[in-house]
Amino acid sequence: MTKKAYITGISGQDGAYLARLLLGKGYEVFGLQTRRGSDTLWRLREMELLDKVTLLDGDLLDLSSQLRALEKSQPDEVYNLAAQSFVATSWTQPVLTAQVTGIGALNVLEAVRIFNSRVRFYQASSSEMFGKVESDKQSEKVKFHPRSPYAFSKVFAHWATINYRESFGIHASSGILFNHESPLRGLEFVTRKITDGVARIKLGKQEKLALGNLDARRDWGYAEDYVEAMWLMLQQDEPDDYAVGMGRTNSVREFCELAFGHVGLDYQQHVVVDPAFYRPAEVDVLFADPSKARQKLGWNPQTTLAELVRMMVDADLKRVERE
Ligand code: NDP
Ligand code: GDP
Repeated sequence: MTKKAYITGISGQDGAYLARLLLGKGYEVFGLQTRRGSDTLWRLREMELLDKVTLLDGDLLDLSSQLRALEKSQPDEVYNLAAQSFVATSWTQPVLTAQVTGIGALNVLEAVRIFNSRVRFYQASSSEMFGKVESDKQSEKVKFHPRSPYAFSKVFAHWATINYRESFGIHASSGILFNHESPLRGLEFVTRKITDGVARIKLGKQEKLALGNLDARRDWGYAEDYVEAMWLMLQQDEPDDYAVGMGRTNSVREFCELAFGHVGLDYQQHVVVDPAFYRPAEVDVLFADPSKARQKLGWNPQTTLAELVRMMVDADLKRVERE
């Protein structure tokens, strides 16, 4: 029997990688399409997946569209990846963020409960929930202290997931994923902003790159490795929560050093700090303790930060050259 999966957020970075992973495993893949922006399907097109997945119209805010999507796709597994996912925007659109990132997840859970509570559910939780951290490393046991409307909306969705597991016996798992990047990362996030900037500077299209807090530290991994952890969670007999990260932490400054260094440039000659990119409340450092995911899921990612940076810079050099 062919397994079926329904992915909300299929047009995003993780949605594209997850769709490719599941197709490779023989799944029939359905995805939610919002029809909001201009070219939201560029990632699926770039990965040549557009004709391999079935897109269903709808929005996370519309519970009826989620019920219809489940009715149409009859999935074994549901991956809720859709969100207003950019932390900075969550301060300018806090209510929308809470609605999409928080209530939206609840809508999908409700749809699963109503439609068929045997469906397995994955919630895309975030290390941003740890926020103002109290311990050196963060595992799924560490207390949350969200620092943005994005983060507190994710905390709501995380607890909704646990509550639906405990209340209705739904196989609902929450992956608390640390930052993961790729050539398909949105341009608004710092890593891709840097690698795109490096490509433009190297090719003489731009001189300076304006960034905010260079001392913020993140546990950056490669998105393709992380979608495998999502899938592994839904293959377990029991649903659970897992912190998923590399177990390393680097500053934005170090990321700049690596990215500019890869094309023989010195970041100090090009990066300027613009306080406009500072955040009202910062998450200074994230550093994963992924031991549970490694032991219970057998998840074992190998991509180094230098490899990730090289992959992203090289992809952006090609893109900028083509422009
Ligand atoms: P992206 O920002 O690349 O993708 C977000 C997706 O959500 C897009 O497909 C977007 O659709 C969709 N979406 C936004 N609003 C709605 C809505 N109202 N209804 C339906 N769909 C909507 O995110 P990533 O792929 O990077 O991340 C996937 C998930 O994992 C997100 O929930 C994110 O918050 C979470 N996460 C990501 C981390 C990371 O480092 N990448 C770390 C931890 C958690 P459209 O294209 O139409 O706008
Ligand atoms: P986040 O961890 O989900 O907020 O991912 P981002 O990539 O948006 O930001 C990671 C860190 O980089 C945060 O601590 C930001 O404050 C910091 N940062 C510094 N300069 C910038 C910038 O110009 N853009 C973004 N997005 N982040 C920046």
